[in-house]
Amino acid sequence: MSEDLNNPKYTISNAANLLEISVHTMRMYEREGLIIPFKKTSGQRLYSDQDIERVKCIRHSIKEEKLTIQGIRKILSLIPCWAILSCSQKDRENCSAYDSFSKPCWMHSHKDNVCVEKDCRVCEVYNSFGTCESIKNKLKVLLP
Ligand code: SF4
Repeated sequence: MSEDLNNPKYTISNAANLLEISVHTMRMYEREGLIIPFKKTSGQRLYSDQDIERVKCIRHSIKEEKLTIQGIRKILSLIPCWAILSCSQKDRENCSAYDSFSKPCWMHSHKDNVCVEKDCRVCEVYNSFGTCESIKNKLKVLLP
């Protein structure tokens, strides 16, 4: 992924305007674990072009394909993150995300595995599954 595309530059109001949705909806997507904004030390959230594309995919899935937020979370929970990060057996045993099918790995707390202190926003797992197209492309690489 290009650094430029993930460069956090839009405030939540700018991002919401670009997407023609409300700030409340942007906050709800974050709360529901569908997006991870960049957070400044002041707590202000910033969004990148990559985030905008991610929200467009979410909106399309909800409006055109009639998926619910819970349904999208379930799909994201099926991401084989352990295969992408080559987690050891021990890491898998210590990871609640490994057996979960209700929420994505980045919504779990990680205390004793490879993801401790990782920044999910820049993780290959989170970034490989930002849009419908990128999900399919990543799976093609994982499962040739
Ligand atoms: S760092 Fe975060 S996004 Fe990456 S595999 Fe771990 S929990 Fe998932």
